[in-house]
Amino acid sequence: QCITHCPVGALHERDDTQKVLDAIDDPEKIVLVQIAPAIRTAWGEEFGMKPGEATVTRLAAALRLVGFDYVFDTNFSADLTIMEEGSEFVERLKHRDREKFPMFTSCCPGWIRFVKSHWPQFVGQLSSAKSPQQMFGAVAKSWYAQTLGVDPSRIFSVSIMPCLAKKAECALPGMDGAGAGQDVDVALTTREVSRLIRSLQIQPQDLADEELDMPLGVGSGAGAIFGATGGVMEAALRSAFFLVTGKNPEPDAFKSVRGMDGWKEATFDIAGTALKVAVVNGLGNADKLLAALDRGDVRYDFVEVMACPGGCVGGGGQPIHDRVEMAPQRAPTLYDIDRGMELRFSHENPSILACYQQFLGAPLSEKAHRLLHTTYHGWKMPGEK
Ligand code: SF4
Repeated sequence: QCITHCPVGALHERDDTQKVLDAIDDPEKIVLVQIAPAIRTAWGEEFGMKPGEATVTRLAAALRLVGFDYVFDTNFSADLTIMEEGSEFVERLKHRDREKFPMFTSCCPGWIRFVKSHWPQFVGQLSSAKSPQQMFGAVAKSWYAQTLGVDPSRIFSVSIMPCLAKKAECALPGMDGAGAGQDVDVALTTREVSRLIRSLQIQPQDLADEELDMPLGVGSGAGAIFGATGGVMEAALRSAFFLVTGKNPEPDAFKSVRGMDGWKEATFDIAGTALKVAVVNGLGNADKLLAALDRGDVRYDFVEVMACPGGCVGGGGQPIHDRVEMAPQRAPTLYDIDRGMELRFSHENPSILACYQQFLGAPLSEKAHRLLHTTYHGWKMPGEK
């Protein structure tokens, strides 16, 4: 992949590592970090480690040496996104006569910027669910602060993302739902984290694996596959099937949406309803799909869009290998993680169930809406009316 694929067009990467080190040095701050699904496919490349060696638990050990107080998993909030987005989709299906379809996924800020600036007529069809990065930050500064018994202002929330557009996302209006400043204070890219680890002379190759912290360190296999094109759709369909039928599907029932093709489509039967879905990656493919929808050439119920070719595994913040597109090599790591897990459904994640039981109530509750959903009309792209 290439930094020029980055949808924000950032040629120079802003380095935010000093802000994180300052927070770690501040005794008042409790500094926690979330690790995005795609990071576990690539972080070890900078250290010459193979995918099997560069585990997320070994990265957790390195991050504790950097000085983070708690190491958590964005897979947790990918599961939360599925609960909210899947419930929203099922609600929209109940009102098929008056809702507009398709519903579009909303977890990729590069895609959000693109649709707002090029195809504003489709903005109303975006899921209102915030991205996993933002849901994590909102939960960290609300439920988790409450669990720790501390004022949310003491939490300094860092994310490790495969993405440059995520830096802009955490500063958008509305991404402060917990009421303690930005829900995510700093987003670091995979490359920045590698530099940070290296600058502190930490050698992750020599570290033993360490478990992530509870409860926000628990994610399902469905959360893990978010990092590859098709993963959000597959995870959402697993839980939508459960929400509609009360039964789990076969975990791999929707695997035909996997793969690196730029524009994939599939039709699935859920409780007698035929759902037509599409998955696109790369903004050129997104543009073609939206043009086809606009002309009425195609019809879908649910569409996943990822701005980067191959999805987040090929994101603009991941390690760069000249003239080599790494997404096809990285995505299988996520499917291996998913296949190897007992927990493969977002709606079975015990930390998600606890979060709803102790704090949020239910998907799409008033509190869930306030913390976990957004509107795309609260901010404008340059030139947007
Ligand atoms: Fe960022 Fe992933 Fe979207 Fe690329 S596909 S812009 S890495 S969220």
